[in-house]
Amino acid sequence: MIDLDQLVRKNILGLKPYSSARSEFKGSAEVFLDANENPYETGLNRYPDPLQWALKDKIAVLKGLPAARIFLGNGSDEAIDLLIRIFCEPRRDHILTLPPTYGMYQVSADIADVLVREIPLRTDFQPDVPAILGAVNEQSRLLFLCSPNNPTGNSMEPDLVQQLIDGFPGIVVIDEAYIDFSARESFVQLLDRAPNLVVLQTFSKAWGLAGIRLGMAFASEAIIHYFNKVKPPYNVNQLTQKAALAALNQQEQFDQWVAALLAERNKLTDQLGHLDFVQNIYPSDANFLLVKVDGAVGLYRYLVHEKIIVRDRSRVLLCEDCLRITVGRPEENRRLMGCLSNWKAHK
Ligand SMILES: *Cc1c(COP(=O)(O)O)cnc(C)c1O
Repeated sequence: MIDLDQLVRKNILGLKPYSSARSEFKGSAEVFLDANENPYETGLNRYPDPLQWALKDKIAVLKGLPAARIFLGNGSDEAIDLLIRIFCEPRRDHILTLPPTYGMYQVSADIADVLVREIPLRTDFQPDVPAILGAVNEQSRLLFLCSPNNPTGNSMEPDLVQQLIDGFPGIVVIDEAYIDFSARESFVQLLDRAPNLVVLQTFSKAWGLAGIRLGMAFASEAIIHYFNKVKPPYNVNQLTQKAALAALNQQEQFDQWVAALLAERNKLTDQLGHLDFVQNIYPSDANFLLVKVDGAVGLYRYLVHEKIIVRDRSRVLLCEDCLRITVGRPEENRRLMGCLSNWKAHK
């Protein structure tokens, strides 16, 4: 069992949050003269709902969770930043990350002047449970797991994740940005039995809405309460709320995209496997492939010259000679494969 009040920073425990006009008056009214808005109707002249209830109600149905256990942020990056600010005392507490992984955990910690303990993944890209639990002390606040992991594409083994949830004395954060592409079950299903768990998801990948900046955090009501206390009052704007609601009413489109991207991912895996300079294609539960090649930097530069940009991960721990390739539309993937077969001819 965790004692949340022991984990939350003292200044946040005692924080009196900003009370906006929109949150102070909750009844129904006809004339709103309380928020210094422009009264002329533009469709956007009013402040948005600070807690985005209409949107959360829809997401709650989709995820099978009460709306009160959802936080919505300006991208999941906002949730990462808020978690660090809620739980970590600068220059005293630390977070744990498992490289190679998403870079924002480190950057957000650096901005907050919070220490980072890096415990590398095993060579099979699974968490090294004994090493992680061995690195823990009183100042351990957050453990960031990314599953499916960026940039490796694999999912974390559920039994290892469970051991970490059971053994870690702080909050375990599982970043599921790519879960919609995975055949594995979401770790959201563990939330009821794990009061120290936070699961992050996003509209930036499978939903096709990276431009609106909308991320989700799922957790206990108690943890969501702290998110709401610390977040900027209107952190999710009206246009974003509207676009997300519209997308949630178009779930067939989402399903079609996911199916198409998975089919393309399989096709790419197959085709890349026939190239003699490709050493390894790591199994992916995401919408990208981590590919180990002979001469990664040279290949990256060649692709740039061909006006195709992939991500050079060759200097990242355990990713030597690797490029991370996002699955594109069929014609984009065909063009990539055309270039890659010419590269073979170049050598
Ligand atoms: C893309 C990505 C995100 C998404 O962040 P947003 O701020 O929601 O766009 C989060 N985590 C990981 C690991 C990602 O790769």
